[in-house]
Amino acid sequence: MVLPYGRQTIEDDDIAAVVEALKGDFLTTGPTVDAFEAAFAQAVGAAHAVACANGTAALHLAMLALRLQPGERVVAPAITFLATANCARYVGAEVVFADVDPDSGLMTPATLQDALARADGPVRAVLPVHLRGDACDLPALEALAREAGAVLVEDAPHALGTTATFGNVAETIGDVRHSAMATFSFHPVKTIATGEGGMVVTNDPALAARLKTLRSHGMVRPEGSDPWWYEMPEPGFNYRLPDILCALGLSQLGKLDRFVARRRALAAAYLQALQPLAPLVRPAVSPAWSDPALHLMTVLIDFEAAGRCRREVVDALRARGVGSQVHYIPVHRQPYYRERYGPLDLPGAEAWYARCLSLPLYPGMADADVDLVVRSLAEALGV
Ligand SMILES: *Cc1c(COP(=O)(O)O)cnc(C)c1O
Repeated sequence: MVLPYGRQTIEDDDIAAVVEALKGDFLTTGPTVDAFEAAFAQAVGAAHAVACANGTAALHLAMLALRLQPGERVVAPAITFLATANCARYVGAEVVFADVDPDSGLMTPATLQDALARADGPVRAVLPVHLRGDACDLPALEALAREAGAVLVEDAPHALGTTATFGNVAETIGDVRHSAMATFSFHPVKTIATGEGGMVVTNDPALAARLKTLRSHGMVRPEGSDPWWYEMPEPGFNYRLPDILCALGLSQLGKLDRFVARRRALAAAYLQALQPLAPLVRPAVSPAWSDPALHLMTVLIDFEAAGRCRREVVDALRARGVGSQVHYIPVHRQPYYRERYGPLDLPGAEAWYARCLSLPLYPGMADADVDLVVRSLAEALGV
């Protein structure tokens, strides 16, 4: 058995909730969709939540809802999952890659400013990613985006349950005070799981209505129309999240506090256990304002000083039953983007990528697993 870097926690009542939904009248668009959306909005403190097929569909819907046009620009960090950048291309917009802080992996006001200065067209949206679960500096990013005529869309799949304190205001990621929308994913490695699943949250009722229309073919039913009647002002997609999966999501959401508490306890144990491995191994740095519900336990390793390459360390960990993963390969280096935009020099992203490795972190881990992982890492590095 190898400890994976992340995995879902599915319990008997989650299974019972899915079975219940399967016995109901609606497998797809039923009452559990509304119930999951309402509970999710409440959990993150947003006015509206719109469930959809997955986190990538959530990003696509957000770009469509903003009516992005071909040639307009979207700023995305270089260190993220592919989908953060790809959603701009789905609507014909161009991606401007922002560098990241080499020790937190996050887009910062300075790296956003640099990206905005490089943009050679109108920037409409900036997509901060709360990498690993740590909150970006949202007030500062919002101010810079607004000055450039753009809005923030937070790509927040890592940060469900994260809180942050800016000035003396406590905020929850997903309350969308600084952004037009925030997106989430319920992929099995994320904080709550529905298999495939995603959510867009917003405080803007017009955006919420538009997201709902676009998620289901662009169909609208005007008030007072005949029962069979529908109209399509513009084509949308089938990005619905079925009732069955919303039942699972609702059940999982009820466990969010417990999952987050367990992630925080495991992360604290990691920080303690990793101390003797400094300075060869250092945990990724959390900004002072962030109280993360960590999605990833990412460490930064000085492979050169250790005299081991990352592949050797990954293989040695695996041989000891410890899975690991790299989050992420800089997106601007992908063949598609390199070909489209040419080579880019983003030293923060390179420095992050050269050192990062994510260790196992999920609620089902035992305390002893943390010790096993850290001991195995020490052995893998020969210290
Ligand atoms: C998981 C993830 C996505 C994509 O979500 P899916 O549900 O897998 O489509 C997008 N952005 C980030 C930062 C993610 O972690």
